[in-house]
Amino acid sequence: MVSSLIDIENRRWNAELIRSLFLPFDANTILNIPLSYNLPKGKVIWIGNRKGEFTVRSAYYITLKVIESDEVGESSYGDPRIPLWGKMWLLKIPAKIWIFSWRACMNALPTKLNLNRKGIDTTVSCPICDQEAETIMDALITCDSARQVWDRWVECPVNLSSAHLDVSDIALKILADGTSKDLETFFVTSWSLWYSRNQVVFETNNQTPNQVWNFARRITQDYKEASNLFSCGDGNPSSIEVIIKDNRGETIAALRMPLNGQYPSLETEVIALEKGVLLAKEMELQQIMLETDALTVVQSLLIGNKEGDLEHLLQGISDTLNPFSSWQIKHLKRDCNRVAHELAQLAKFTGTKQVWKGVSPPTVQHLIQLEKV
Ligand SMILES: [Zn+2]
Repeated sequence: MVSSLIDIENRRWNAELIRSLFLPFDANTILNIPLSYNLPKGKVIWIGNRKGEFTVRSAYYITLKVIESDEVGESSYGDPRIPLWGKMWLLKIPAKIWIFSWRACMNALPTKLNLNRKGIDTTVSCPICDQEAETIMDALITCDSARQVWDRWVECPVNLSSAHLDVSDIALKILADGTSKDLETFFVTSWSLWYSRNQVVFETNNQTPNQVWNFARRITQDYKEASNLFSCGDGNPSSIEVIIKDNRGETIAALRMPLNGQYPSLETEVIALEKGVLLAKEMELQQIMLETDALTVVQSLLIGNKEGDLEHLLQGISDTLNPFSSWQIKHLKRDCNRVAHELAQLAKFTGTKQVWKGVSPPTVQHLIQLEKV
């Protein structure tokens, strides 16, 4: 039923799939996360969209709001990188590079030094230059192998060899002195460097600086061509997303899924709710709380008034809810749901259905962290 990172039958990670989707370091990290199926009482949060579609405009709305609150000094988080997250949202780069970039900015890539700090038994020295510790800055910027690639960026708006503190500092500087296209070049090239580095480490396959640079340009070009194809026709398809949190507010599962076409608003809401309840059932949760911004759906489920075109869908949801030991549904204002809106947008970018269990999708972790502050 779901294309998942988890082999449902055997209750294990789908190792083959994970290794095909992620770089070796990341794949190993994921495979080392224990899966728990005896989850505590859970809470399902599903969020539809009143208009039935998550357009780029919704993303603008969210990110502009974040940027605005920062500019007027009302940000309660005090994180100088907030404008960067907002801008990164709008970049025309593949989702996997978006995730990588965010992790690079958060110092959350599995470099030798980071792995060593996490207690993994490994030397910290850079496997390529063998001179410095492999930090993110070494791997992506200052290592000789990286410098030779960056030398090809003749119109780089910032001086990459000057003393920068970290990747997010550089990205913020590019944001200040350059264009979105520059930021795309920076992140896609960084990804290409990281990819090439992993190839050297795991497959002893050494790429020349030219190959790394050209690989990045090709990714950008291919992505833009694919996006243009995708946006042809009657507009973007609708997408849905579900986030499941436990009673401590920790995200324990998430699902994002583009729909085949543009659905009417209420129908999209109801499909999202149906998928959320089915996911909760699959995870063997007993007590759930559903949250949505669609008041009419709340009312029809509570009152049992299931008339109209969606009757069969709503009846199906009621039937699925029956075996739960208890369930509630509550109306939630849309602003509270930034995390799910971000997931929805990502579903649109990747065009694939994805389910995560037992681990937060990396792209939403920063929002979850912000919301915890
Ligand atoms: Zn190095």
